[in-house]
Amino acid sequence: MIGWLRALFHPLPLAGEGRGREGAAVPPSPRPSPASGTGSEGKQLALVIDLNVCVGCHACVTSCKEWNTFGAAGPLADENAYGANPTGTFFNRVQTYEAGVFPDTDTIHFPKSCLHCEDPPCVPVCPTGASYKRKSDGIVLVDYDKCIGCKYCAWACPYGAREIDEARQVMTKCTLCVDRIDNPTLAPGDRQPACVKACPTGARLFGDVKDPESEVARAIRERGGYPLMPEWETRPANQYLPRRVTGAVGAAPRETRELGARSPEPWSAGTPGR
Ligand code: SF4
Ligand code: SF4
Ligand code: SF4
Repeated sequence: MIGWLRALFHPLPLAGEGRGREGAAVPPSPRPSPASGTGSEGKQLALVIDLNVCVGCHACVTSCKEWNTFGAAGPLADENAYGANPTGTFFNRVQTYEAGVFPDTDTIHFPKSCLHCEDPPCVPVCPTGASYKRKSDGIVLVDYDKCIGCKYCAWACPYGAREIDEARQVMTKCTLCVDRIDNPTLAPGDRQPACVKACPTGARLFGDVKDPESEVARAIRERGGYPLMPEWETRPANQYLPRRVTGAVGAAPRETRELGARSPEPWSAGTPGR
């Protein structure tokens, strides 16, 4: 359990426990979730997203919604879908930002879903054990049969990656399409998340980030892959490949450089040199 969360939930030792050899306070252990823990057995499936080639088309969003609303994770409720203020349950969203100062601006598309953290704060806060991390491949999942809709996990997630399904009152999130990657009736090439299959630009890579020979591990190693907001100590498994900026509309050509590595806000206005 990461330090900031432990301190928040257990600021003082409980009566009769929590004294170490030197008499110092020892935080109580979080209740383990069944079949989970917070680590995996040497394998960690994840997405690596290339911000250079994402064009913000939302094909990943719609294919995710389509697959998961009819698959094992669904149905994903929509409210007022064809009205003035539609809302709904999505596992994957693409946020779009304008970076820089007019007229020297860039448009940045930033897909975001659950990052399948290696130390996920959403797991130990769950009072029923519904949230868990699969030991076999590190995917973080929710057991709907155990979920009581308390939203503790959504509160604990620093990335806003969980969404309550209002119709079913269960917590939902990206599953990396476990019902595709575990499905032996699909052709091997189809056993990957729906978003990866749908992306027309190849911006989304999928695989085992702990396998140094995998496509995702190579991309992270060779192209400066970085995790989102590492200061939260969640060790996100999903990573991003930083934007390579060669000059915005209206700007004089500038030296090609990498943006974003180790920066949580590579698109923010006022980034040096933008
Ligand atoms: Fe949990 Fe949020 Fe990390 Fe996903 S991104 S594993 S929901 S903390
Ligand atoms: Fe666990 Fe469901 Fe509560 Fe989240 S909303 S903490 S998954 S019981
Ligand atoms: Fe970006 Fe690919 Fe998603 Fe389109 S499908 S928004 S290019 S990640």
